[in-house]
Amino acid sequence: MKNLCLLGSTGSIGRQTLDIVHRHGGFKITSLAANSNIDLLEQQIDAIHPKKVCVYDKEKAGILANRLKNNSTEVLSGMEGLLEIAGDSSNDLTVTAIVGMIGINPTLAAIEAGCDVALANKETLVTAGHIIMKAVKEHKVKLLPIDSEHSAIFQCLQGKYGPTGDYAAWNGSPIVEKILLTCSGGPFRGLSYEELRNKTAADALKHPNWSMGNKITIDSATLVNKALEVMEAKWLFMTDVDKIQVVIQPKSIIHSAVQFVDGSIVAQIGVPDMRLPIQYALYYPERLPLDCGRVDLFDLAKIEFYKPDYDTFKGLKLGIEAAKTCGSICTVFNAANEYAVGRFLKGEIGFTDIYDIIEHCMAMHKNIAEPTLEEVLGAEAEAIENAKM
Ligand code: NAD
Ligand code: MG
Repeated sequence: MKNLCLLGSTGSIGRQTLDIVHRHGGFKITSLAANSNIDLLEQQIDAIHPKKVCVYDKEKAGILANRLKNNSTEVLSGMEGLLEIAGDSSNDLTVTAIVGMIGINPTLAAIEAGCDVALANKETLVTAGHIIMKAVKEHKVKLLPIDSEHSAIFQCLQGKYGPTGDYAAWNGSPIVEKILLTCSGGPFRGLSYEELRNKTAADALKHPNWSMGNKITIDSATLVNKALEVMEAKWLFMTDVDKIQVVIQPKSIIHSAVQFVDGSIVAQIGVPDMRLPIQYALYYPERLPLDCGRVDLFDLAKIEFYKPDYDTFKGLKLGIEAAKTCGSICTVFNAANEYAVGRFLKGEIGFTDIYDIIEHCMAMHKNIAEPTLEEVLGAEAEAIENAKM
């Protein structure tokens, strides 16, 4: 039995993680964390009986603690609470399924406690990839990707990886020529910039293939998500951004591919169901049964590929520029987007305003090549301030 800490248990990835653990066992879930949804968290506590939970929102944590007076589960709160549960060295695996940059410090705490990490929270690598990868190497832990494209790349690299299968041992590979990072193109593929302007949050929340949390669904519509994934892939696989090619594949059947130096392309194919990459990360290197659908190649008949429209989906272009520059500019890209998406979801700004806000914040920023954690947080604060333009 391995001890598991699940950060973000009430979210889309968190709930699916619990579903997978429930099916296959092998883990004792010792701690859970959520932002504020104490009703769902209470149901999870009743079913799992973790030792500790953290509710980030202090007031909600107080209400939950009151409800659980006669329960053995301890209720913590705030960043201190997150760091306490993530930094517990008796954990074997921590799943980081929190959304946003708030995931950086708990992920780092888990790594420093010698715990393997299954990472869904891409913002952590986007903004602090250099710090996280250094810590992974130093503490000799595994960093297992949950994001479907990165899981696909990881699966394609099996057997061609490192002696122990961990990223620290891999450190870039001379046999990888190119990473083909696939992208559905989102619900607005094929539209012009003018047509994008009037799109509302309700339109953007209708993703054609994937069911996900709100923030990432908007990022998938703007293609900012793909830019974040380029940054994520760059760190996870120690690859130059020039070696990562974004390929639009509208049905989300090919989850990504790797092209090797002999011209051979290895791809991972499956139905779009996040439980598959979650399960692969949790039980790696084992493959266990999963009752998700199956891709029927005859039903599918054809797979289409397109080049991304970088001029219309400006967020992708801006993000790739940031990824190439590297440094605190990636935090600015991410934070300006996080802020803009929050306002877009509230109906306060238009769809293409998200791009304008990101562009403005990037133009205002003086890049720091290898920012410290403090400088990363400073770049975030600066971007949010500038985003209020
Ligand atoms: P979500 O909005 O559904 O869930 C987010 C979770 O994080 C919730 O449990 C919430 O309570 C928790 N949380 C937020 N702020 C917190 C805080 N300050 N302290 C503690 N917990 C906090 O999001 P999601 O779709 O599950 O995505 C989670 C992460 O995984 C994101 O970084 C996203 O980019 C990434 N991801 C998601 C998917 C997907 O299919 N949903 C796919 C790939 C990557
Ligand atoms: Mg993805």
